[in-house]
This record gives sequence, structure tokens and C-alpha cells, in this order.
Amino acid sequence: MAERTPWSLGSALRGMFGKKTIDETTWEDLEEALIGADFGPDLTDRIVEHLRAEVDRYRTEDPKDLKRMLREYIEETLSEYDPTLKLSERPAVTLVVGVNGVGKTTTIGKLAKFLRSHGRSVVIGAADTFRAAAVEQVSTWAGRAGALVVRPQQPGQDPASVAYQTVEAAIRDGIEMVIIDTAGRLQTKGGLMDELGKVRRVVEKLAPVSEVLLVLDATTGQNGVSQAEAFIQHAGVTGLVITKLDGSAKGGFVLNVQERTGLPIKLIGQGEGIDDLTGFTPHVFAEKLVG
Ligand code: GDP
Repeated sequence: MAERTPWSLGSALRGMFGKKTIDETTWEDLEEALIGADFGPDLTDRIVEHLRAEVDRYRTEDPKDLKRMLREYIEETLSEYDPTLKLSERPAVTLVVGVNGVGKTTTIGKLAKFLRSHGRSVVIGAADTFRAAAVEQVSTWAGRAGALVVRPQQPGQDPASVAYQTVEAAIRDGIEMVIIDTAGRLQTKGGLMDELGKVRRVVEKLAPVSEVLLVLDATTGQNGVSQAEAFIQHAGVTGLVITKLDGSAKGGFVLNVQERTGLPIKLIGQGEGIDDLTGFTPHVFAEKLVG
């Protein structure tokens, strides 16, 4: 079955690469396609400038060469960051942060399943205690993934104490992976960052935090990154998860966001199902993006 990759530049670039030679309209079309795919103006300028120089250097007029150069440049740019999850500690604690609605809970369920399918035992801490629905939702995902869950003992329990109890349970029972869900209420930005800081400090009394994954929704584009700025500044984020790429025509967001935040992309979500999460491989992504 062909994979759906609506974020591919394939159709936007088809006309351009279908031509016999590279001419001035090729560059205009390329620029338009990159901007349209959310590469952002700075990165678009850099790519076009780089490719113009390469085309001159190799004295080629063949659009197929240009396509290959574009793919290589994208892969090189993406490869400047290390996409591997660092989960060698036992237990390996991952905090998952992000604004409500970006797909945080779904990502936690998918990540738990991903780790379970690699033979790891997993416990999820339902530390978004403010929303009863969040606790229920994360528990449902845990059940689907075959992971354990530590829930608040009463509504509104201090998130840090739920996180602490989760890590405590993991150490006691020899569970290898801990995933902590956290709140994402933007209205209380200052309070939220304090809360996340406390979760982290309390967890670190028991075990180091291996990863802090910030979840970003590809369909929100640059707005989403601005909204998440506070997490980047205050939450010690170690990597990004890009969700909803399946619903986005904006594959350039992935490069743009990596450049803009200086953070590696570690996982990508491409659907609502439990198996719709994959690791991030620059080579594979660049091939699919350029089409
Ligand atoms: P949270 O508020 O951040 O925890 O967000 P949820 O995990 O509840 O997800 C919000 C909505 O986005 C739900 O309808 C999910 O099914 C949907 N969603 C999450 N990840 C993806 C994805 O990768 N692709 C698509 N198409 N939908 C997603």
C-alpha cells in the first residue's frame, strides 16, 4: 500500500522538474513551493542561494540534477541534529510537554506502544491532574499499549507527586521506561512552567530525566512554534515530536522548526492510530519530502 505523504513537495515541484532545462522560472517555482511548504523565508533563501551556486559549479541545466541537489541539501541540513532517543538509563524517564490539543496524549500512547513493541516495560504517569478527562484518556491509551499507569489518588493532586509516585513504582517494580504526561494549559504560562520545573526537580530526586519531548502540531505551522516558546525556554526540552504530518501540506515545517529551535526532531506522528509514530530518519524524510 502506498504511504500517504501529503506533506511531500512532489506535486508542487512536478511542473518544475518535468521541464527540459533549468531557467529563471524554475527558481521562481522552487521558491514558491518552498514557501508554500512552510520552509519559512530565511531557509528558503538559503536553499535557493545554495542550489544556484551548485548548479553553476557543476554547469548543469538538468532539472533532475537540481532535484537531487535539493534532496541532498535537505538531508544534510536535517543530519546536523541527532534524532536518537536517549533511553539507556534504568528507569529511563521521559517527560512529554506541549500545549493542549497538539496530540500529546496520543503521542504518549503511541510512544508506550513503540517501546512495548521493542520489548520494554512501560509505566505512564498521568500527571495532568487538573483535567479529569486527561487522566482517563491517558489511562485508555496505556491499556491499548499494554503499559501500566499511575493515576492521581484524588482529583487535582499535585502533578509532581504523581510523577514521583510513578518513578518510585518503576524503581520498585523494575519497570524500564517511565513516560510522564504533563499539563498544557497556555493560559497559565508562568504557573505551568513552575509546575513543570517542580515535576522535574521531584523526579530527579529518584532518577535522572532522560528526555523532555516537546510535542508540536505540524498543521499549526509557525504559530505553534511561537506558542511553544515558553517550553523551549524553561522546560529543558531535549527533542521534538512533530504530530499530524498526515494532515499537513507543510513538510518544510520540519526543517524550519529544527533550525528555529536548534532542537532535534526525534519522532513524527502521521495518524491517529497507535502505530502511527515513527522515529525520524533524515535520509528517508528527505526522499519523501522531495518526492
Ligand atoms: P492533547 O490535548 O495534546 O493531549 O491532544 P490529543 O492527544 O488529545 O490529540 C488531539 C487530537 O489530535 C485528537 O483528535 C487526536 O486523534 C489527534 N491527533 C494526534 N496525533 C495525530 C496525528 O499524528 N495525526 C492526526 N491526523 N491526528 C492526530
